[in-house]
Amino acid sequence: MIQENVKRILNELPPDVMLVGAAKTRTPAEVLDAVSAGLAIVGENYVQEAERAREAVGERVKWHLIGHLQSNKAKKAVKLFDMIETLDSLNLAQAVDRAAEKEGKLMPVLIEINSGEEPQKHGVLPGEALELIQGLADFPHIRVMGLMTMGPLLDDPESLRPYFRRTRELFEQIRSLSLPHVEMRYLSMGMSDSYRVAIEEGANLVRIGTALFGERPSCNKP
Ligand SMILES: *Cc1c(COP(=O)(O)O)cnc(C)c1O
Repeated sequence: MIQENVKRILNELPPDVMLVGAAKTRTPAEVLDAVSAGLAIVGENYVQEAERAREAVGERVKWHLIGHLQSNKAKKAVKLFDMIETLDSLNLAQAVDRAAEKEGKLMPVLIEINSGEEPQKHGVLPGEALELIQGLADFPHIRVMGLMTMGPLLDDPESLRPYFRRTRELFEQIRSLSLPHVEMRYLSMGMSDSYRVAIEEGANLVRIGTALFGERPSCNKP
């Protein structure tokens, strides 16, 4: 079932849109199943789950951190991940930069945008994103590769469109500035219910869990 889902969605996506398989709560065997069907990027929310899955799956796929990162896990995250999609503060950037320097790595990151401007959510407010990105010029071991957003938790995917649109406008605005340490290439938006709307609004990375792996137990919903 997982393999069929992966193949169907890979077929459906436009050629310039990449699939990130959101693997939280899934077993390494389930992740392997998806990889064998062609999944090329695995998205993990937790450093520990990523460690387990990486042992089983290895280097044949790319690993993205899509959950919130705490500064004290920066070292492990820099080692494990090919991209951190959730950078949202200078404090965290400092920890990531130090870890990347030690690791001898130029760490690709996306800036997480709190597009719904929800107080309890992670991500930088849209109005503060440019200032954050300009501040990242002080961290030479980090490379900004684009933006990521979740948007509010809403039942109707169409109601997420304004948040996706706003994030894409921000993406284009920042890209047009051609900042030296910034390469606005990836726009990560859309999940199982909303990826079609997100792609219409310019997403080229979509993070899909349920539609690949099936329903999670409801207590584990994001
Ligand atoms: C769980 C999760 C997803 C995927 O959600 P689904 O609704 O299962 O597709 C995408 N992005 C993030 C950050 C997540 O935590």
